[in-house]
Amino acid sequence: MRGLAGTKIVIATHNRGKLEEFRALFRPHGIEAVSAGDLGLAEPAETEASFAGNARIKAHAAMKASGLIAISDDSGLCVEALGGEPGVHTADWAGPGRDWTMAMRLVEEKLQARGATTPEKRRAEFVCTLCVAWPDGEDRIYEGRIAGTLAWPPRGKLGHGYDPVFVPDGETRSFAELTPAEKNKISHRARALDSLVRDLL
Ligand code: IMP
Repeated sequence: MRGLAGTKIVIATHNRGKLEEFRALFRPHGIEAVSAGDLGLAEPAETEASFAGNARIKAHAAMKASGLIAISDDSGLCVEALGGEPGVHTADWAGPGRDWTMAMRLVEEKLQARGATTPEKRRAEFVCTLCVAWPDGEDRIYEGRIAGTLAWPPRGKLGHGYDPVFVPDGETRSFAELTPAEKNKISHRARALDSLVRDLL
């Protein structure tokens, strides 16, 4: 049986927002997490067409470069009216400078172009796929999702990425208006991590 308890792991991300969420989520389990960014590891190209494929690329690259158990996260926003886009291209829509305001505006322009003005036409899902890769080459995949509606204009100053336009079902506030603790109870990342914890801890 594979386990993680009491180990040191590398989180295969250069994204500060994701890293902070992971640290908070792992803290109660006594896991020491360093990030690929902190270790100065190179960011591999995400060349696969699925979240799981890209999560595997990132976890295996960080595991090989560090010799540690690596956990990666490939995640994104899938908008129903846009046929699931931006999906695996969610970060790309923010351009090389990672301009999230521009990325959110791009989603909004595409929704407007399709006449998506009512909440039912503005359904979206955040998806998070985690990959754990062990130094012997074995890996496992875990997934979490949260459904919601896209708001416009963006609201709230907390969180990261597309949080200001995503209102999870059952809430009136956007992800960027929830406290980190509130978001971490329900987010796609928390749900994926729940499955990982149930399996490995
Ligand atoms: P990647 O997994 O590094 O390819 O990037 C996924 C992108 O999806 C991130 O850069 C964010 O823009 C977006 N994303 C993933 N999870 C969240 C979230 O919890 N809130 C807001 N945006 C997110």
